[in-house]
Amino acid sequence: MNPQCILIHYHEIGLKGDNRSWFEKKFINNIETQLVNLPYTKVQLKAARILVFGIDSNQYVQYQERLKNVMGLKHAYLMSIVKLNENDINKEVQKQISNLNFKTFRISTKRQDKNFHLTSPELNQLIGANVVETTAKNVNLGNPDLNIIIELVNGEAYIGYKKISGYGGLPIGTGEKALSLISSGIDSPVASFLLLKRGVKIDYVHFHSVPSTSKQSINNVRKILSQLSKYQIECNLYNIPLLEIQQKIMENSIDKYWVILFRKAMYAISKLLADKLGINALITGENIGQVASQTISNIRAASDSIDIPVLRPLAGMNKEEIVNIAIEIETYDISIEPYEDCCSFFVPPHPSTSANVETIRKIEKTLNLDDLYHQLISNVTVESISFYE
Ligand code: ATP
Ligand code: MG
Repeated sequence: MNPQCILIHYHEIGLKGDNRSWFEKKFINNIETQLVNLPYTKVQLKAARILVFGIDSNQYVQYQERLKNVMGLKHAYLMSIVKLNENDINKEVQKQISNLNFKTFRISTKRQDKNFHLTSPELNQLIGANVVETTAKNVNLGNPDLNIIIELVNGEAYIGYKKISGYGGLPIGTGEKALSLISSGIDSPVASFLLLKRGVKIDYVHFHSVPSTSKQSINNVRKILSQLSKYQIECNLYNIPLLEIQQKIMENSIDKYWVILFRKAMYAISKLLADKLGINALITGENIGQVASQTISNIRAASDSIDIPVLRPLAGMNKEEIVNIAIEIETYDISIEPYEDCCSFFVPPHPSTSANVETIRKIEKTLNLDDLYHQLISNVTVESISFYE
């Protein structure tokens, strides 16, 4: 049997200029981290491809699952490696298709090695004609049952058809850090995922109202993070008790402003935590118009006193699009488990949908919450959640 490897194509790294090798290094490191406990001998960069050598192809499904989690990966194939000549290529293709069930096929050659005497279309025709002759199957270029990939790279031919599709984007660790405000709802895990996809490394902060609410939201967040740590392997969670602040707000302001004031407190505390951690951005799952607290005026009123960028990747998405991602990343089923959220637990029947910035600012000032905010940050504890325990 010819030796096998996994051939990986990256995504936007290919558009990088002078700093491309820095991105490639991070990408390779992240691949190695994901492949922990799976057999391989080396991971090597060759002509804008990453090759994982010395694999055990019987464990293909495990490699597939792991590599899908590496941000930056566009797609990858399980490949056999043969000498760069049409005879060996043809033999390997015939061997690979001999047990396969398909009606239509195509050959897709990429010729990185321009020294080879046939062009990509010429090799496609030659190998394709042989497949037609031996199997009597039809070529279908648009939507074939079987797409046989042949890549000619640095004097060798790589041949395979088993595809691993990734999420694209950029390797985690290339996009600095952000602090994600995570509830156990549907949206904030999806917002976090979208920024992980952009290479951002994330720490998480969760606010709870224990003992007025149960600890369920904290447990659900832990479960969600054990899913999201698939991509980042290890992440930090800061759980912060909000109850004392909420009580102060509820005792001293009209109920229609409570949620905005809770949110304002969350923003203020998160900003202090981000400062302490040396982090330069917050992430939320806010989505315009979804609920009362997410009108544009309320978002402004809640976030007007913090001077740190707030990334809101879901702002313009439809609920259905968000749900589809949540299902794909396997956080949806955890998010729909019943839990008492620290804000919804105390939501009045008619929250304001257009709070005035000045009004909210004045109320917050009279509540004198700053000392409490600082106290919470100086007592904050962290727990680390990792995917491969
Ligand atoms: P989610 O599904 O993420 O809970 P949501 O649609 O329920 O969002 P809200 O409850 O209004 O919306 O929350 C808006 C955003 O505020 C959330 O996406 C999250 O980023 C943040 N947030 C809400 N509750 C909490 C919490 N308990 N701890 C940390 N962040 C929170
Ligand atoms: Mg929520």
